Amino acid sequence: MSGVGGAEWRCHRECVYLVSAIPLYDTAQQRQPVGVLAVARRLDDAYLSRIGHLLGGRVAIAIHSSPTQPSEADASTDSAILRGSDGAALATIRWIEGVSEPRGATATLYRVKKYLVGSAALVALTSSLAMVFFLRRHLAGFLAALHRLAAGDWNTRVAYTAPDEFGYLARAFNTMAYQLQQAFAEQKRQREQIQAQNEELHALYQQLQVANTELAQLNRDLTEANRALAQAAVTDGLTGLKNHRAFQEALHSLVQMAERLQQPLSLIMLDIDYFKQFNDTFGHPAGDDLLRQVAQVLRDSARAYDVAARYGGEEFALLLPNTTLEQAVQVAERLRETIGAIANPHRAITASLGVATYRGGAAPATLLYEADAALYRAKRDGRNRVCTYHPEAA
Ligand code: GH3
Ligand code: MG
Ligand code: MG
Repeated sequence: MSGVGGAEWRCHRECVYLVSAIPLYDTAQQRQPVGVLAVARRLDDAYLSRIGHLLGGRVAIAIHSSPTQPSEADASTDSAILRGSDGAALATIRWIEGVSEPRGATATLYRVKKYLVGSAALVALTSSLAMVFFLRRHLAGFLAALHRLAAGDWNTRVAYTAPDEFGYLARAFNTMAYQLQQAFAEQKRQREQIQAQNEELHALYQQLQVANTELAQLNRDLTEANRALAQAAVTDGLTGLKNHRAFQEALHSLVQMAERLQQPLSLIMLDIDYFKQFNDTFGHPAGDDLLRQVAQVLRDSARAYDVAARYGGEEFALLLPNTTLEQAVQVAERLRETIGAIANPHRAITASLGVATYRGGAAPATLLYEADAALYRAKRDGRNRVCTYHPEAA
């Protein structure tokens, strides 16, 4: 079947309809239609708007049409009154502004615009990718430099000199690396300096220790020398007994002690008989040996608190604290015997001894005088004997 028909607009209750009615013919019998194909579609504003633009303008829709008389009040900004040639109002129409796809030059412009927008988007995408690639490449360089710097490679620098932000960043990084390098170099220099100073201090400390040791030894030597000097000052060099000065000091202090304690104090004075002759016969060294032998006898017989001294020449003294005259005489006798028994290679010798006891209130020199007087008496009475002091005999 086939048919040719027409279509028209219909407005019903302010809605627009496109109505098409087509008579249908049997293709074999062309004369009588076998039916009518009717199609109607309601057209909304959006559809009408697109149609308006397809037709190149806007669409007017008759809101009221004859026989209804449109009122003036129906006219508004988007509606108008459609009048006939005689000025009579035919209908109220409402204008629908077309919005449609551009056509002709507008379409070209639209396509150009679309092309430009597409190109711009492509360019933007490409630029973004290029920027990302660029950023990644340079950031990788910076990261590698940072890693080297963190690992202690102070010579690390970023070789990027372009006058852009990366160049600025590179300069800042290089300045920072340089300052770090300087700071660590300075720190290293100071550490080495401190190390050197420590070593110097250590060497000085060792020198001081050596000096201290030497000083301590010198001090000990000095103390020993002082002690020896002090000893020498009170000791007789030949015999090792106390010398004359030490004897005098001992005499004074023992007299004071005897006075305070009210104890007896006796003194023995001893002189070798004919010693000049011995010297003359056997020589001075032999005389010295004899003097040492006699001194040893005195030393051996003295108690801890007795004072044995070489009074001078071949004369000796023995102070006996807390000893009576009788006791002192016994000591003197024993001494005389011992000296007489000295085994001398040249000849036997003898000694004369005088004994006296301190009398309270007397001067120390008195005791010395009286013992010496007793010794003199022993010499006078024939030597090799012990005599005591007798005032009437003196
Ligand atoms: P006397 O029996 O009267 O005591 O006679 P002496 O010869 O012992 O006494 P004298 O005073 O005449 O002589 C003492 C001698 O002692 C004289 C001196 O040469 C000697 N002499 C004094 N000091 C030392 C000394 O340190 N060493 C020696 N070897 N002899 C001394
Ligand atoms: Mg003599
Ligand atoms: Mg003498």
